Amino acid sequence: MKGKGMMTRLTHAGENAIAKKTAASVSVPKVIPIYMSSVFSFDDVDSLDAVYAGTAQGYVYSRMTNPGTDCVEEVLAQAEDCGGALVFSSGMAAIVTTIISQVKAGDHIISSPVLYGGVYDYLKNELPRFGVEVTFADFEKDDIESLIRSNTKILYTETISNPLMAVEDLPSISKIAHSHGCKLIVDNTFATPAIAQPLKLGADISVYSATKYLGGHSDIIGGAVMSDAENIAHIHHFLTLYGAIMGPFDAWLLTRSLRTLDMRMERHSANALKVAEFFEKHSKIERVYYPGLASSPYKKRTQESFTYGRCGGMLSADIAGGEKGACTFIRECKNIKFVPSLAGVATSISYPAKTSHRAYSPQELKNVGISMGLLRFSVGLENIDDVLEEFDAALKKV
Ligand SMILES: *Cc1c(COP(=O)(O)O)cnc(C)c1O
Repeated sequence: MKGKGMMTRLTHAGENAIAKKTAASVSVPKVIPIYMSSVFSFDDVDSLDAVYAGTAQGYVYSRMTNPGTDCVEEVLAQAEDCGGALVFSSGMAAIVTTIISQVKAGDHIISSPVLYGGVYDYLKNELPRFGVEVTFADFEKDDIESLIRSNTKILYTETISNPLMAVEDLPSISKIAHSHGCKLIVDNTFATPAIAQPLKLGADISVYSATKYLGGHSDIIGGAVMSDAENIAHIHHFLTLYGAIMGPFDAWLLTRSLRTLDMRMERHSANALKVAEFFEKHSKIERVYYPGLASSPYKKRTQESFTYGRCGGMLSADIAGGEKGACTFIRECKNIKFVPSLAGVATSISYPAKTSHRAYSPQELKNVGISMGLLRFSVGLENIDDVLEEFDAALKKV
């Protein structure tokens, strides 16, 4: 570069330094560095052809894949012990791209009606614009088999439903799906692979908002998809087409978070069980929804299908006094924040009817059993006695 113009030197200096040094290096970085590079350069056209043909290793363009997403995808595939994973710019991007990769105009989907609000909105209002019909049905109570048509492609549900914490019977649903050539897609956001592994229970594809427990520190928006290698290759085509990939910095943060996923979920679960047991005995709480409670109608199912005997950090409860009681409780919790999301290190409270389920009409809320007094708790990693003390004080004011 010596002797060249200023702009030439500044635009080229150091370009090959990392590649040359790392190729010759006897040490490797303990942690995968962040590759903030939108694109990769080649010495000749043959090299590029070889990468496209799969006969040489290399990256091309970061909307397709990049070292950061590659790394985090390996960790995620380990977490669910499956053929592969993909990471996306958000949970919605992961879910929408996965669904669109499986249907065309004229196809049909059957979905649970108790879903993350954004996904419900997408299925109910957006997909019909593209000629895809969606039937909402209760996988527990309705005769799903009788709703399946020759054009049904997807059965869609959540492992632990939001916000009522119902646990689906995935092995039975997957049998129905597969006997009719449909794919079962399961949103495993609330559970994570450290609680339940949908692919082991018969699901074809599991989808995640990585914004929640996979990230776990309330600092990234991201999504993930796990499946066998064939489905992952198919969905990857759509990820590239729609430009829905996760950025390198978020991929690096997510990798870091996943290192502690198992430990975090163990603590979230132990803490949530204590809160659920505390609420169950409290006179100002009308009903508690937590699958890990001995009294839960889902307890047996969790014992049969949850890999590690724990039930996660999410629970809901009906506060005495309906909307007024719920608002008072939120106001009286001074350190525990009202946060319209979940899965951070600190305990937080959400109000489904006013936040995640705003898209539901009052009648729809009623139909799925979400009351105006229902609060949803994301139980954090604190020393739980401190949290219980604050909840107790707030409930006294309700
Ligand atoms: C948050 C969430 C989503 C959407 O994910 P984003 O990262 O916000 O796009 C989907 N499903 C569930 C269960 C969620 O909690």
